[in-house]
Parts: sequence; structure tokens; C-alpha cells
Amino acid sequence: MKITFPHMGSLAVPLKTIFEELGQEVVVPPSITKKTVTLGVRHSPEFACFPLKVNIGNFIEALENGADTIIMAGGVGPCRFGYYAEVQREILTDLGYNFELIVLEPPQGSLWGLLANIKRLGNHRSWSEIWEVINIAWKQVLALDVLHEMSLKIRPYEKKKGATTVLYERAQKLIVKARTHEDITWSLDKGKELLNSVDKKTLDRPPLKIGIVGEIYMVLEPYANLDIEKTLGEMGVEVDRSIYLGHWIKEHLFPKAFRSREGEEIKKVAQGYLNHFVGGHGLESVGRTILYSRDNFDGVVHILPFTCTPEIVAQSILPEVSKDYKIPLISFSLDEHSGKAGFVTRLEAFLDLLSQKKYNQELKGAV
Ligand code: SF4
Repeated sequence: MKITFPHMGSLAVPLKTIFEELGQEVVVPPSITKKTVTLGVRHSPEFACFPLKVNIGNFIEALENGADTIIMAGGVGPCRFGYYAEVQREILTDLGYNFELIVLEPPQGSLWGLLANIKRLGNHRSWSEIWEVINIAWKQVLALDVLHEMSLKIRPYEKKKGATTVLYERAQKLIVKARTHEDITWSLDKGKELLNSVDKKTLDRPPLKIGIVGEIYMVLEPYANLDIEKTLGEMGVEVDRSIYLGHWIKEHLFPKAFRSREGEEIKKVAQGYLNHFVGGHGLESVGRTILYSRDNFDGVVHILPFTCTPEIVAQSILPEVSKDYKIPLISFSLDEHSGKAGFVTRLEAFLDLLSQKKYNQELKGAV
């Protein structure tokens, strides 16, 4: 078996660890580039979700590099994600690739099917061995999330543009190499040290605080979201990401008792605007925007793939939420046609509006 999987933020790190530690060969797809997107777009239906197209590009590049087994997550929700794997299987088969596609359905779909697939992918190792490897990968996920969150808080203060990114990438590499509990703990401490060593400037006023909500792939994958976090951070904004990989795993794969209370809180505050699950993170986009307003954030950026149904539902509700909770909001519907220049111009205009609003509030407070 030569296993591959799609990219989505730092997802490749824990997956590579799991499969390699279980004795499988892994072919990580090359990092997403224009070529990846072009390949995906060329071979996918025009109105398919943008993440599906990028996944196809990842798979083609990995299959060309020798992969023969694709791991893909399944889904049971009302949006199109449940069909993804089957559509991808058909596209790649029609292109003439010889491969096996293993779909890991979520536990609420088929627990036994999921366990059987895990056992098989685990080279039929004992459950305790598989569990230990999953634990190591989980620790990597949490460490990467901590470092990412730190980088978002530090970036607006950096004296030299790009300094945080350089040290954050070095910190990430330490976690990637760490494959024991002790090594991950050491690497996390070292990574924090690296990030804390960024040369910082003193600001006259606290930076603007912006929350990012939206569809998980777009929030997690910097290539797809046009590097929004780095762009905003380098414009002097403190960014808060509403979804992390660790958070998603907890909410979807852990038993209810181990989930955070935040998930329930999000649903509660969204009541009245959106009362039920609409697939993807549509409900979370609404609830999280309300929570960002309560936490005194200056604004919210909503990112969605063009044609994403759950986020289109959220997008139609968010203007009312923004008005009721007095939190400025901007939506970006992105796909293969989105260009960075126009995106940055709209972000700059949004930041001008937020700065002016904050300045006016400070003036009122001073009177
Ligand atoms: S959440 Fe949106 S982008 Fe993701 S599969 Fe569903 S419809 Fe497509």
C-alpha cells in the first residue's frame, strides 16, 4: 500500500505519522500550487465545491508520484460532502488511474465499517498499538494548533514583516519530526520559545481584532483562503480562527462527554437565526459571529467556497446578525477564479471601516 490523502492545512502531519508509524508507505501530495488547482479544475464538474477540485488535484499529483491507495473522509450530513469520495473515485477511474479509495465514514455513519478500515490500514496491528500511534498524532495536532494560535497573536506586533512566519514554520518542522510524547512536549516548548523571540514593536493602540468563520476547508487551508491570516496579521490585525483541526476532531469524532461546551453554546446563541444543522459549518458561522461580537471583536470575516450550500445559508443570515449585534462583517466567496489583488483591496477597505468605527467609539468614550 502506498497511501495518500488530501491536504487541508496541517492535516498531512498527523496522517503521515499515523500511517508511517503503522508501517505503511506514505506519498504526501506535493504542496498545493496553481498546477494542483488547474489539474483539479480541469477534471472536476464545473459546479463542484472548490475543495473537491483541489482534492482531485492533490490525488492526481500523488498518484503520479506512485501512490496507489487514497484515504478520504466520508460524510452523512445534508451537504454534498457525503458524495465527495464517490465522485472523486469516478473522476480518477475515468482518467485511467489504478488505485483503491478507502472512505473513512464518521462513527455516526458506520462505526464497524470505520473500525474495520482502521484495522486494515493499521497493518492489522493490535488495537493498543494503533491507539498509541493515534495518541501521538493527536498530540501533534494539539501542539500545531497551539503554535498556530500563538502566531496569530504575535504577528501584528512583529517589527520585521514576515518574522513570525519564518519562526512559526521552524516551530512547525519541530513538531513534524517529533514522534514520541516526550519529543512533542519538548518541540512544543521549543516552538513557543521561537515564537516568543519575535522582535516586537510597541503599538500606539491595540490592534484590531477580527474573527474568521466559514467552511472548514477554506478556513484551514491557506492556499484556498489566499493566506488570509498572514495577510491580515501583516496588516497589523490580531486574527482569531474559529475552527482548528483539533477542535473539529473533538466535535466530530469524540464521544459527546469529551466535547467542548463551546459547540453547545454556538448552537444556543444561533437559535432564532438558524435553529438546525444545515451541513458543514453553516450553523457555526452564525453562532460564532455572535460570540465574536460578545467578546468585543472589531469585525468578522466569513469565507466560503463558491456554491457551498451550508455557507450560502449562513451568508443569507449573517447580515441580520451583523446588524443586530453591531459587528461589521465581510463575506468572501472564493474559488479558482479568485485573485489576491482584489481580495486584499476589499480587506483594506474593510479594515479602514473598522479603524474608523473604533476611533469614533474611542472619541465618544473620551467625551
Ligand atoms: S461544506 Fe460546502 S464546500 Fe464543503 S462539501 Fe459541503 S457544500 Fe461542499
